[in-house]
Amino acid sequence: MISVEQGLEIVLSRARSEVSDDFMPVEAVDLASSPGRILRESITADADSPPFDRSIRDGFALKAADVASVPATLRIVGESRAGRSFDGTLRSGECAEIMTGAAVPAGADAVVMVEDTERLSDGETRILECVPLGRSIQARATEAVEGDRILASGRVIGLADVGILASTGHAVVRVSRRPRVAIVSTGDELVNVDETPGPDQIRNSNSFTLRAQVEATGGDANVLEIARDRAPDLNDKIAEGLQADVLIASGGVSMGKYDLVVGALTDLGVDIAFERVAMKPGKPTVFGSRGRTFVFGLPGNPVSTIVSFQLFVRPLIRLLLHAPDVEGTLRQALLTDEARCDPARAACVPAHVRFEKGAYQLTPVRWKGSSDLVGLSRANAYVMIPQREGTLNAGERVQFIPM
Ligand code: AMP
Ligand code: MG
Repeated sequence: MISVEQGLEIVLSRARSEVSDDFMPVEAVDLASSPGRILRESITADADSPPFDRSIRDGFALKAADVASVPATLRIVGESRAGRSFDGTLRSGECAEIMTGAAVPAGADAVVMVEDTERLSDGETRILECVPLGRSIQARATEAVEGDRILASGRVIGLADVGILASTGHAVVRVSRRPRVAIVSTGDELVNVDETPGPDQIRNSNSFTLRAQVEATGGDANVLEIARDRAPDLNDKIAEGLQADVLIASGGVSMGKYDLVVGALTDLGVDIAFERVAMKPGKPTVFGSRGRTFVFGLPGNPVSTIVSFQLFVRPLIRLLLHAPDVEGTLRQALLTDEARCDPARAACVPAHVRFEKGAYQLTPVRWKGSSDLVGLSRANAYVMIPQREGTLNAGERVQFIPM
């Protein structure tokens, strides 16, 4: 059986061999809906920033040489405020009142803040402090020069980025289209959320958790109707799902008599890359592709589905998006309790992490196995327990994925 790392490598290398720059096309979206999307154009400064020498204080623009010895009395010859600058030129002995963000008048070479002055009349002020050349002036183009590339293609649009896009006049932004992800839950026992399960039935929860994970990852989820454990129905739903960029089927991938998903995928021409991964939960995780559609068969147990998505589907969707964070981030914590390893498979189990005594402390949560969503609800992380003999002791370092 392949390891989690090998499985992920297979998923990503198969996707990389199919995905070129034009694979996930670019679309234009309104700036307001761009945060979190993947930028697909590079952004240049359309003007110097700041566009003029700008005061960073409320006070008086003046010639530093005039206040080399203080106090000094200067004549107020005008005002420069944000949105309306003073258009004259200061001469020796003169100053102009200035507000934060306003252009520094020609002839001025420093700003003294209002707190260091004493107003004598409408026309005169006394300067109480010396200022060096350039004080409280942010020079033109110190943040960016017109034509500079200030944002590279391929970024996740963050808070600073959306501000930069606005200030450079991008009302519409080119971003990666969201990959379309079809979700098919399979099982004769499943009923819809608004139905009351009969004695042998349960409500379909995987379609909802998968939809939430797909959307949080940047995909565009399309939940299909539940497929029953019969080849014709399963084939119909899977064929429909194969029209998407990614198809996720849940359930029906174990060794049981009614686990028909792999057969249906094979019938429909999906080239299966693997069917099992040495991990707990999530051993029966299936991956394959047909043309440019990538296909996952995830184990039906609700926590297994969530964990398998996190480990294998999320990276693929991020790759399709041209996102920079394909692998995601593993963090380190100190284990508070002993944890047993399994020499046959790695585990990725629900845990609770808190920051205490200068480090992340991680405790696996009480959890009854791969169907236990209530146990999972106590967790805020998944801890990676390596595949090996023996136990991890309290105080050892472990890796975790924050939820
Ligand atoms: P399977 O992989 O089809 O053998 O399913 C394993 C377990 O997960 C069974 O107990 C199923 O009832 C349960 N299960 C399968 N699909 C879903 C679903 N969509 N929502 C909730 N539980 C499910
Ligand atoms: Mg089933």
